Amino acid sequence: MRWLSLLTEAEMGMAMFKSMSIDLKGEKELVSMRKAAQVVAQTHKVLMAAVAPGMSTLDLDKIAEKEIKDRGAKLAFKGYRGFPGTLCISINDEVVHGIPSAKRILVDGDIVSLDLGAIVEGFYGDSAVTVGVGSISDEAKKLLRVTEESLHKGIEQMLPGNRIGDIGAAVQRHAELEGYGVVREFVGHGIGRALHEDPPVPNYGNPGTGMRLQVGMVLAIEPMVNAGTADVKVLEDNWTAVTTDGKLSAHFEHTIAVTENGPEILTTREG
Ligand code: MG
Ligand code: MG
Repeated sequence: MRWLSLLTEAEMGMAMFKSMSIDLKGEKELVSMRKAAQVVAQTHKVLMAAVAPGMSTLDLDKIAEKEIKDRGAKLAFKGYRGFPGTLCISINDEVVHGIPSAKRILVDGDIVSLDLGAIVEGFYGDSAVTVGVGSISDEAKKLLRVTEESLHKGIEQMLPGNRIGDIGAAVQRHAELEGYGVVREFVGHGIGRALHEDPPVPNYGNPGTGMRLQVGMVLAIEPMVNAGTADVKVLEDNWTAVTTDGKLSAHFEHTIAVTENGPEILTTREG
């Protein structure tokens, strides 16, 4: 199993039967989690404004590292299971877990996913966004829009009493209505004192199935949506996942708390 939880469907089934330990967060924990999440959000804002043709992916990684450290936070990804970067940077047909490199130069028309985590007071925040480099095609714009919309369709389901399957079903339905492929091998996750906690949160599923949501759960929902086939493979660097048909892929993620008043998006970049 790999980071983000690379789970086969069989393993996902197994996870339903084994008992999961869910760490519920009270207000004290949420105060720290909001801080970590906002370091991620503010760093994303800086990165999104910086992305431009001619930059290397390592340039972006250095910006992210500086922004996180300047805010007094720790890097969540660097060294995680040996990952070498602060950011996962995945371009075009790369789905997730691209490794920053001085040799990898952004080109006008690319789409680039920036996946980012930070730690404050022992708590993690995790979020991803995909942006265009320079001017991008209408096809690419639509993929980004629909993927971000599908994330929010999932978030809307994060109500006490709903189930994990309600989240995945809403994400899947919205993306597949457009003919897109929803990646199965990587899934979202609980988050808090660890980057990846129970439960796994697939971006697909059936309404009314899976664990019940309750106040105090904090989840990272993170649809990876492909313009073509849902199938992915991991490259020889043992990290970078790409679409098997070479078509574009987008990735959006937020860290969200289930509260009595509905979902609270901790990594929001608004306000
Ligand atoms: Mg992430
Ligand atoms: Mg995540």
